[in-house]
Formats: sequence, C-alpha cells, structure tokens
Amino acid sequence: RPEAPLTQRMAPKGSEIKHIIAVASGKGGVGKSTVAANLACAFHKIGFHVGLCDCDIYGPSISMMFGTVESPQISVDEQLIPIERYGLKLMSMGFLLESDQPAVLRGPLVTRYTQEFLKNVDWGNLDFLVLDLPPGTGDIQLTIVQTVRLSGAVIVTTPQEVALVDARKAVSMFKKVNVPILGILENMSYFLCPSDNKKYDLFGSGGGKREAEKLKVPFLGEIPIEAELRISSDHGMPIVLSDPDRQTSKVFLEAAKKI
Ligand code: ADP
Repeated sequence: RPEAPLTQRMAPKGSEIKHIIAVASGKGGVGKSTVAANLACAFHKIGFHVGLCDCDIYGPSISMMFGTVESPQISVDEQLIPIERYGLKLMSMGFLLESDQPAVLRGPLVTRYTQEFLKNVDWGNLDFLVLDLPPGTGDIQLTIVQTVRLSGAVIVTTPQEVALVDARKAVSMFKKVNVPILGILENMSYFLCPSDNKKYDLFGSGGGKREAEKLKVPFLGEIPIEAELRISSDHGMPIVLSDPDRQTSKVFLEAAKKI
C-alpha cells in the first residue's frame, strides 16, 4: 500500500484518539481476542498510549486475559472510565455483565447497546485504540465499523480454508465501508514440537500469506499454536508482557510495527 505504517503516520489534528484499529475475524475461535490483546500490548511496549476495547457482547474475554474483575467507574459526566492494567486502558462489555450471566439481548438491542457503549467511554488521549470485534460479518460488526472512525482493520485467520473463506468475507465487509485493511495476521500457523523440534502444520500452511497476496494487503506474520500463549492469557497477562523475549511475542511486536 502506498502509505506509511500507522505507527509512523501523523494523526488527524485535534483528535483525542489518534488511531482506532479493529481486529476482526470472519470466524470464531481463530484467536482474534488473543491477537487483539497481544497487539495492544505490543503497541504499548513500543511506547504508545493504548486502549483496548472488547466489543464482543456474547463472549467477552479481555477482562479474563488481563486478569481483572474490576467494574468500571462512572465519571461525573456519565462516561465509563476504563480500567487501567499493565499500563493499558481497558474497557469491555464483559465488565458490565455478571461473570456467569449470559448476554440475552436481541439483535436490535445489541446494536443500540453497543453504540451507546462505544460513545460513552472516556478514553482520554490515546495513540491507539484497539477494538476486539465480535466474530463474523453481520449487523453488529457493521454497526461498530460505522459508529467509530476507524483507521483500519486487522484480519485474523488460521491457515485453514474454512477460516480463510470467512476472512475474505471480513475483508470485503471493510472494503464496502471504505475501511483500509492494515493486514492479515495468521494464528495457529504451526506447532513447534518441544520433543523433536519439528514444525507441524496442524491447520495447513501458508494460507494467510497466500490470501494476503491475493487480496493485495500486507501479511503481518505467523503466530504458532503453543500452550504458553494460551496459559499466559488464562493467567491474566498476555504473552507479549509476560514473556517479551519469546519468538511469538516478537512476531506480535513486528506485526504492530508493520501496522
Ligand atoms: P476468538 O476471539 O477468535 O474466539 P480466542 O482468542 O478467544 O479466539 O482464542 C480461543 C482459544 O484459543 C483461547 O482459549 C485462546 O487462549 C486459545 N488460543 C488462541 N490462539 C492460540 C495459539 N496461537 N496457541 C494456543 N492457544 C491459542
């Protein structure tokens, strides 16, 4: 693409949040939230002021990945105040629900609720706000991408064809609403077996990269499938913060720089 990465670009004048980035996937379970959390941490490590917002009302997971059960405070002008954790600002629809309470809102209500939620968070000044979108390309995703001023979107996929088909749908959704695709990041690209040090392509190989080339969007990297990544998330600290020297963390850092 002709423009420089966002990390090197000037923000529009007068905006409190310089860049809002959506992390999206066509399909659930590909690791979108894991990627959103680690990319946000990578921006923070590079030295930016970062916010991370979990927009998935049906399966919010950011609070768990950051090990917090705090509820956000409400400011005097009735804005939600993000939770601060590890130097990042966090907001999640999950903060507003009881932990074992399912979200039983109907479509139109979810849309309204999400819009209200997005407009009423007091982020203050940020370099990057990362939005963890709900999986898929339906009404709710469209509402979100039309409610906020996005600098672009990162698409998460696995190398598997079923995930790629849905990733393509996500790319065309963003194109339709003129949101630039900042790149495709492939997750669960391979498994590096600790006992024989061999790479195993559990979900096929090279799919994300080929797709990126076909769609003429940047390819941001390959994240292996590994227990440590899952464990660090489950223990409440994304791997980019808990083990920054690890190869996987470096891939996230490189991806953030390419964005
Ligand atoms: P999504 O947001 O796409 O539904 P999540 O980020 O919630 O996906 O990931 C689903 C599950 O897979 C989580 O338990 C997460 O910890 C795990 N996971 C995601 N990526 C990896 C990976 N590269 N290696 C191991 N586990 C992963």
